[in-house]
Amino acid sequence: MAERSKKILLFWDCPECAHAHVEGPTQRCPRCFWWRDRQVKFYEANDSRLLTPEEEAQYTRPDWICKACGASNPDRGQPVTELLCGNCNSWQTNSLDLGSDRPDEAAAGNQVEAVQGQWQEGFRVDEGATNPSPPPKKSGGLGKKIVAGAIALGIGGTGFGAWQLFSPDIINAEIVQRTWTVNVEIQEQRPVSGSGWSLPSDAYDVSRKEKQRSTRKVQTGTTTENVEVSYKEQTGTKEECKTVSDGNGVGTRTCRDVPVLTTKTRTETKTVPVYRNEPVYDTRNTYTEEKWGTQTTVSNNGMGDAPRTPPAFTLDNQPYPERSRPPQEICYITGKYEKDNQVDQDQWSLPCVQYDRLEVGETVTLERQGDQVKLTGDTANK
Ligand SMILES: [Zn+2]
Ligand SMILES: [Zn+2]
Repeated sequence: MAERSKKILLFWDCPECAHAHVEGPTQRCPRCFWWRDRQVKFYEANDSRLLTPEEEAQYTRPDWICKACGASNPDRGQPVTELLCGNCNSWQTNSLDLGSDRPDEAAAGNQVEAVQGQWQEGFRVDEGATNPSPPPKKSGGLGKKIVAGAIALGIGGTGFGAWQLFSPDIINAEIVQRTWTVNVEIQEQRPVSGSGWSLPSDAYDVSRKEKQRSTRKVQTGTTTENVEVSYKEQTGTKEECKTVSDGNGVGTRTCRDVPVLTTKTRTETKTVPVYRNEPVYDTRNTYTEEKWGTQTTVSNNGMGDAPRTPPAFTLDNQPYPERSRPPQEICYITGKYEKDNQVDQDQWSLPCVQYDRLEVGETVTLERQGDQVKLTGDTANK
């Protein structure tokens, strides 16, 4: 793409008094007479017009910077011996301190900012600057407060519910009875039938049958499908420009055309495979195996501090082999306690080590969960 360059007028803002939009080549602020220096920032505005041919012939070199005070002075091509600073009236070669070299030039070739504004009525009015900003939302603050309040309430409610659900009841109860049970589970080894894709090692009476275990996909051919394919196409060009400072209040604006690409779609035909589901067969085993299962549970019950002896039983191994499981002790207390201004009575199970520490007639503090209790922390440790 070919590049086009034009010379345009830049502007600057006075850093001393904030007077805005001074034409670039102007040396001093029209309000406070501050003389611009090498730090001043030129910018392109929306009234940065093209230079006239006379102006183009005039602004060909960057300003020179006064060795004594740093002010910018226009370079008319004079020899260094003729350079006199307009700001401080210093010759650039008139003292030993300043030497006889040419003074520095103002920086040129730096890209300048494009500052948008409306400095000239009717001249390339910037659209962005004329759009009114949206009005502030007046109800925003109050709405947020209401939402926050609702959230706080919600958390409080949930917390209370959870506390009720998981926290145990605390009961002060007088123990009126202590009872216990010892259970022994009697098991027998019975033949049971089973089936599966694998065979247990001790299985017998095995029969095998081919059965469908799963399915798999088998390609039978292909078919064509229409698919939407997206692609980019150039639908035009747009101009992209940048401006660099010439170091004297004017700038060089360079533009080039760049392609504008648009995403489009087209339909393409695609070949895709066609599958069918095919059953996969495997050997299914049906068999008999010996398994231990519960035949019955025998119990022995007692009260108070009587030794918790297991129930008496015999294993007759008829018709199947039998065995017993280890005895399981369960201890219970019956307690009297006050509930809704009335005396209530309940039986609960509790750990037998705690049961052994209790006596009938004693009043204890219990944590209840469902039909189980335990002594509250302090009592349990005594
Ligand atoms: Zn000023
Ligand atoms: Zn000077």
